[in-house]
Amino acid sequence: MTEHEIKIAFTEYNAFDELVQADKNLCLEAEKALATSHSPYSKFRVGVALQLQSGKILHASNQENVAYPSGLCAERVAIFNWGANHKNDPVISMAVTAQTDEFELLKPITSCGSCLQVMAECEKMQNQSLRVLLYCINGPVWVINNIQSMLPFMFFEERLTHTA
Ligand SMILES: [Zn+2]
Repeated sequence: MTEHEIKIAFTEYNAFDELVQADKNLCLEAEKALATSHSPYSKFRVGVALQLQSGKILHASNQENVAYPSGLCAERVAIFNWGANHKNDPVISMAVTAQTDEFELLKPITSCGSCLQVMAECEKMQNQSLRVLLYCINGPVWVINNIQSMLPFMFFEERLTHTA
């Protein structure tokens, strides 16, 4: 029998002002993306900005639907857009933020399990780390250096990934 232990490391910045300029910019791009959220049901807007290696920035937001399960989280809207249109331009960093008129958010929101699985596969396929900034407007920012550490038990089977 062998016991294993997995530790997750992340950096907490108490405020937006503590970030380096490039990270500030990406967080502000995620904030801009909130405006495109389609969330009339939850009234919970989520905005994402992806920083690609080329310098290009992609925006995404959560897209709900009156048939509730048909909607999609902002993170997956972002990564699937990248996969469909920019796959050869690796994602360096991803900023995620949220906002609602219903209550005040005091800490960053974290991605759901399905999004983590999609983000983790993106990281694997591009074969380089995808850094995540979880940005709470007027609150702390959490920075995680790779998705693997957020979902160490992601589903992955190398032999299923070889496409014709
Ligand atoms: Zn999600």
